[in-house]
Amino acid sequence: MCAKLYRNLFLKKGKADSLGRRHPWVFSGAVHHIEGDAREGDKLRVLDDEGRFVAVGHWQIGSIALRVLSFEDEVIDAGFYAGRLAVALDVRKKIGVVRTGANDNRENRNDMYRLVHGEGDFLPGLIIDMYGSTAVMQAHSVGMHEDRMLVAEALKRVMGDELKAIYYKSETTLPYKAELGQENGFIHGSTDNNVAVENGLEFHIDWLKGQKTGFFVDQRDNRALLESYAKGRKVLNMFCYTGGFSVYAMRGGAELVHSVDSSAKAVDLVRANIELNFPGDSRHEAFAEDAFRFIEEMDGKYDLVILDPPAFAKHRDALKQALRGYTRLNARAMEKMPKGSILFTFSCSQAVNKDQFRTAIFTAAAQARRNVRILHQLHQPADHPINIYHPEGEYLKGLVLYVE
Ligand code: SAH
Repeated sequence: MCAKLYRNLFLKKGKADSLGRRHPWVFSGAVHHIEGDAREGDKLRVLDDEGRFVAVGHWQIGSIALRVLSFEDEVIDAGFYAGRLAVALDVRKKIGVVRTGANDNRENRNDMYRLVHGEGDFLPGLIIDMYGSTAVMQAHSVGMHEDRMLVAEALKRVMGDELKAIYYKSETTLPYKAELGQENGFIHGSTDNNVAVENGLEFHIDWLKGQKTGFFVDQRDNRALLESYAKGRKVLNMFCYTGGFSVYAMRGGAELVHSVDSSAKAVDLVRANIELNFPGDSRHEAFAEDAFRFIEEMDGKYDLVILDPPAFAKHRDALKQALRGYTRLNARAMEKMPKGSILFTFSCSQAVNKDQFRTAIFTAAAQARRNVRILHQLHQPADHPINIYHPEGEYLKGLVLYVE
């Protein structure tokens, strides 16, 4: 069925090229005009200046005017979403992150993963993370918000009995000016069980109030690598949030693990997660403190350090300042680390690319006057795929360094 029921958006001359290369956004400067009076969140057909169909997508007020859902002239309904979700689930099964079967032993179990990663799964504006049998869904565009019940319907179809509840959490991810009156809450089923399993380790997931969808699912592979370095080491997990890295370090046989976050709530969560996996284990301690202050007093105490700060640059304008922030933080930490230490350092700022991050860390090493080797270059895991036509989707970068 063709999507003629949608209004048309006409592009200016020469502005269809990037869509021809399947880049999924139309910037407001490329728009010539829109037929009739479209409402924010509407689905529009995009036509070039000669009236040829190019794409269909969600329209929104802002510099990204339209997010492409399809390059086919088709209707966007529950069937459309079910098709996309079925592929997304199939990909997750093929890459091996869904390990919930009877044959998956305890150590290996994994029931939390990202099912839909926006543009990376050809569904711009939509995030779905799975925590056991609960899906936490986030809309980042007005159109996805309007379509939430279609997506929920599709998700039920695709997941079948495996899905018990869908929690919708878009209070903070939508433009407040759109005045959608959105609230967080269950839009299908409900559950009291908020414990999910990552690589055999259990975590309380605070999807009600927590950051993102309640957990940073994107660090799973990097946490597993950290575990392999932890034996006998004194670990500092800075910016620990729910303590993912700390729990892995404990299982890896660390001598001690200290978790630091400026949020007292995060510190409570870490403690609860350690208790869940290693009850009564005195190797762990958590501190509600500012990272920069804590670092000043860490002289020689830790030989395995994780620095996973919040995005220093949320926008391109803040880039320079963000890079200086990464340099300062890493330089201070390197200065205080004893010989033969290992540093896991990350940036999740989309506006900072791999090379810029590496340069910021290089500057930090030089300032700290240490011999530093890069052991690993880390990135987001396979369930956070990057749409090849949308390189902006690459956001998580990390380096594992040997600090001599
Ligand atoms: N490493 C975590 C995710 C980190 S998110 C994980 O694997 O789950 C970033 C965290 O940094 C947040 O929990 C936030 O509360 C904390 N934070 C922000 N500014 C801080 C500061 N100045 N000092 C310490 N923690 C800070």
